[in-house]
Amino acid sequence: MLKKELEIFSFGDLLEHFPYRHVDKTKINKIREITPQTDYIQIKGRLTDFITVGSGRGKRLVAHLEDETGVIELAWFQGIHWVEKNLVEGRDYLIYGKTGFFNGKPQMVHPEIEVFAPEKAGGKVFLEPIYPTTEKLKAKSLSGRQIGKLTFQLLSQLSERDVPESLPDYLLKELKLISRFEAYQNIHFPQAQSDYDQALRRLKFEEFFIAQVRLNLTKIQRHKSSKGVVFEKVGDLFNLFYNKHLPFELTGAQKRVLKEIRTDTAKGHQMNRLLQGDVGSGKTIVALLCMLLAADNGFQSVMMAPTEILAQQHYNSLNSLLAAMPVKIALLTGSTKSSYRKQILHELKTGEINFIVGTHAVIEDAVQFNNLGFAIIDEQHRFGVAQRAKLWAKATIPPHVLVMTATPIPRTLAMTAYGDLDYSVMDELPPGRLPVTTVHRYETARASVMDFVRTEIDKGRQAYFIYPLIEESEKLSYEDLMQGYEQVKSFFPEPKFWISMVHGKQPADMKEANMQRFVKGETQIMVSTTVIEVGVNVPNASVMVIESAEKFGLSQLHQLRGRVGRGSEKSFCILLTGSRVSEDARERIKIMCATNDGFKVAEKDLELRGPGDIEGTRQSGMLNFKLASIVNDRNILETAKAKAEEIVEADNELNSAENLPLKQYLLSQKGKTVWSKIS
Ligand code: ADP
Ligand code: MG
Repeated sequence: MLKKELEIFSFGDLLEHFPYRHVDKTKINKIREITPQTDYIQIKGRLTDFITVGSGRGKRLVAHLEDETGVIELAWFQGIHWVEKNLVEGRDYLIYGKTGFFNGKPQMVHPEIEVFAPEKAGGKVFLEPIYPTTEKLKAKSLSGRQIGKLTFQLLSQLSERDVPESLPDYLLKELKLISRFEAYQNIHFPQAQSDYDQALRRLKFEEFFIAQVRLNLTKIQRHKSSKGVVFEKVGDLFNLFYNKHLPFELTGAQKRVLKEIRTDTAKGHQMNRLLQGDVGSGKTIVALLCMLLAADNGFQSVMMAPTEILAQQHYNSLNSLLAAMPVKIALLTGSTKSSYRKQILHELKTGEINFIVGTHAVIEDAVQFNNLGFAIIDEQHRFGVAQRAKLWAKATIPPHVLVMTATPIPRTLAMTAYGDLDYSVMDELPPGRLPVTTVHRYETARASVMDFVRTEIDKGRQAYFIYPLIEESEKLSYEDLMQGYEQVKSFFPEPKFWISMVHGKQPADMKEANMQRFVKGETQIMVSTTVIEVGVNVPNASVMVIESAEKFGLSQLHQLRGRVGRGSEKSFCILLTGSRVSEDARERIKIMCATNDGFKVAEKDLELRGPGDIEGTRQSGMLNFKLASIVNDRNILETAKAKAEEIVEADNELNSAENLPLKQYLLSQKGKTVWSKIS
């Protein structure tokens, strides 16, 4: 029963079935004290009567308990048979549970109940643990209290040896952490609040620390086992561009990331780096400088984008940046003319082309390189593992890989989810950006919103109208979009205005063509579902209207908003909603209106949704901590990360005597740590 309901299979699991709170059971309340605000409470009283009422599914057992101050009704809907058999009228009972009011009278449903035994009062336990349980278990009388009894028995039979220490002694001393054995005792049965707090701190630290040690071991092992091309030097090409052709001063973040990549590519192991930077933080120029670094060391580079439009845009901007440089760059996509394609393939093989920009077309088997050393993947989530493998096969030593993404992930989440990857963040925008002004408007104000959009278009700007994609019903979202299209059209009639429409049901080439018309300015308005490409750059677009904004997630709203505010003009994002907006949606909209900072938005998103649901994270199992929370225990996580790095850095295989407890603990947790290459 315990197994099935709570996944408790062993004594160890029982120990790790932590109480979610403690109550001071020395405290007994009076019935008169119960108010609608009362939460969990313990009461002592006499059982006056009980009766079974109703039948079938509506069957329940109702009892009354009275003390000197009043009467409370007790009710059971499950396990009635057992309760009925065990209750005795006229006896004194101690009950514990959550109170509520039913017909204006206090009531407790499924209370924990036990015969009141005066000799037990004043026992050793100050704080009684309350465990998570299920209704089914409760019905079988395995209430939280019974689980507590089992755990108490187990703990009283254990000695220090049965709960071996996992942390090195020096770490316990340095961080003033209590032992693992003591922590288990005190997380369940603390004598005082401070004991509990210490146990909690110790166990939370352990959770984060062990996870961080594992990540660092994996990382070090990968570095040791992977061979990579070496970019020894920063050469003429890089310096020429940097000193003569760079159109602006790099931001601090750009410089820092370049340095991280520079150091990493010189080490002789393959770099596998994730570069995260908010929309507009300037990732392209970083990529370009990396490509020049590769060229200086005799290597070719490839840059891949998920769509033709993005590839084309990258090619155009790189091409103009490199206009005065002695390097050759080419664009290869599905629509490259076959004669030209032949020439490109030839020049890639001879090494004449230094940089190739493209879509998936660049990793097709026919594409062979002379000496590929660097690969950039823009907007990572569109590129799968298989495609990456194809890329690796293009060179004898796999090229360094830089994956760029504009989906900000909160730092704490990144530390746990990507801790084994090389990871860089650009958390700074180039100076002089005009922040996008974001406002919330109700449907009732549509006419004035449309007027506003018209004044922007009259100034020569362009506008987006975005409709939600309803995953469960493609049909519904399509109809919504069509209705929206007609509505927008009625406000912006042809031939004064032209509208592009893009949605998921269109064939790719049609999508592409509609997109292109907007990019080229042939249409002033883009009506679209969320399929509009991440990363697409139309600097002239200054307004975005997001329809039914309450249906979008925070990070999605932020991504969409990133399509405006890319030019020199002031830009606007209008979040349109109906009059009824849920509490959560209201909070999301409030955050959007308050900040433009993608990392702040991501932090909030994490707070609102919890780590399991955040987009762009992988292996969410890594985030399943029992006690620790990456939202609330940041400080502990920071310390755990720093210590884990320090220790694994100094003792790669944890072979020193003082790290023995740690190694043994990791080995005891088989399957969770990769030791294959660690002797
Ligand atoms: P993203 O990180 O979203 O890919 P881009 O690389 O497209 O951003 O850069 C956005 C814009 O900012 C481009 O027009 C680029 O030229 C400009 N930019 C990049 N870095 C700087 C900088 N350090 N100073 C000024 N402008 C910059
Ligand atoms: Mg980009």
